[in-house]
Amino acid sequence: MELWYTEMHTENAKLSMKVKEQLFSEESEFQKVDVFDTYEFGRLLTIDGLVMVTQKDEFVYHDMIVHVAMATNPNIKKALVIGGGDGGTARELTRYNSIEKMDMVEIDELVVRASKEYLPFTAGKLDDPRVNLFFEDGVKFVEDKKGEYDLIIVDSTDPIGPGEGLFSIEFYQNCYDALTENGILINQKESPYYARDAKEMIRADQKIKKIFPIAMTYKYHIPTYPSGLWLFGFASKGLHPIEDLDADKWNGLGLKTKYYNTDLHVGSFALPNYVKEMIENGII
Ligand code: SAM
Repeated sequence: MELWYTEMHTENAKLSMKVKEQLFSEESEFQKVDVFDTYEFGRLLTIDGLVMVTQKDEFVYHDMIVHVAMATNPNIKKALVIGGGDGGTARELTRYNSIEKMDMVEIDELVVRASKEYLPFTAGKLDDPRVNLFFEDGVKFVEDKKGEYDLIIVDSTDPIGPGEGLFSIEFYQNCYDALTENGILINQKESPYYARDAKEMIRADQKIKKIFPIAMTYKYHIPTYPSGLWLFGFASKGLHPIEDLDADKWNGLGLKTKYYNTDLHVGSFALPNYVKEMIENGII
């Protein structure tokens, strides 16, 4: 008997992966966490039935959520990761000796426990001495922070359930206040392709633009997310991700990456016309 994991991307489109076995399933007060072993994508972590991380394509997401900011500002010392319970974002940040402190605020301890047990390839650096793990709501955590972080990465689920508050204008204002003058905010910004995801992307974009002088969008290709075309937001008080990129300096670090490179860094900010029009006009 064949076992398949299926995620509905819309009412009329879905993605299925053939499953070897289910490894974990538990429900916390926040969400249901499952881990599967799949033939095509290796280990798969889902939250409330939605793909969060797969062993085969997580490198795309975690390269692009971390290295674009780190190559734009080589002086980032204090970082805040909100969400990111699988540990992949923390893993990439700990590769930089310049990082002195990383606060990681994950609302659900269950995600971290499941990731440590079944996703060692993403969760393997959560015990780095620079990582301070807080099992709290990221929305509340930033409320009283002022000028504390050079980088805030919002590695969140979609704007539903506990993730909803991470897409609010108050949250973005609190992130602005929590950042230093050269601070950068990177946020998971959904996708332009399917209507529901595009609506959320536009909503997030319009809120961030009201607060940050520089608010841009960059793209990456991740096969297991709806449509494969997914976006991150880059927002800052002054640093520009292309004008301030020092490619030679980043390349001089000698960090080996499977997806990110400084050419792709620049190219990722070039958007298809239909996406540019969505962002410029604020409509799908
Ligand atoms: N890469 C995934 C994606 O793009 O959907 C997300 C990675 S990670 C698994 C998302 C994390 O955000 C989850 O572990 C979830 O518990 C956490 N999260 C959701 N809402 C949160 C909140 N308000 N504060 C802190 N963490 C939150």
